[in-house]
Amino acid sequence: MQTIGLGYDSHRFGPDGVLKLGGVEIPHDCGLLGHSDADALLHAVTDAILGAAGHDDIGELFPDTDPQHRGADSSVFLARALEIASDQGLAVVNCDATVLAQEPKLAEHKKRIKANLATLLSIPIERVAVKAKTNELMGFVGRCEGIAVIASVMLSDAAD
Ligand code: MG
Repeated sequence: MQTIGLGYDSHRFGPDGVLKLGGVEIPHDCGLLGHSDADALLHAVTDAILGAAGHDDIGELFPDTDPQHRGADSSVFLARALEIASDQGLAVVNCDATVLAQEPKLAEHKKRIKANLATLLSIPIERVAVKAKTNELMGFVGRCEGIAVIASVMLSDAAD
């Protein structure tokens, strides 16, 4: 059996802070605001895994009202989603993500992000795609107010 999940997330830029995408620090003059480390890419991938495993969203597992998750490394959320999938006998086949960011330019960072995602998901790097798009200056992404990410993940029976 194979199942597919779709995840979406967005975060606003703050006045300062560290920008993290896919668990990788990206040099930029400001970071994203959020209850956790605001890693929109890991959040979207986590939601995609949960969706493929028939669960709802990351917020149900890790409410942003829980002080325990303040500043949390989002790889913890991803690991929990993988655990939920694994409990159902499901393993990740591939991950395809699109990051919508007017800035910073991500081309030079994509390799590092892909490598880290592959490690976090325990799949070969060839099964991970990270695309970066500007939003052609349109909308909140185009106005550099924040970053959005769309991700899909396929799960299959671990035994396959
Ligand atoms: Mg989020």
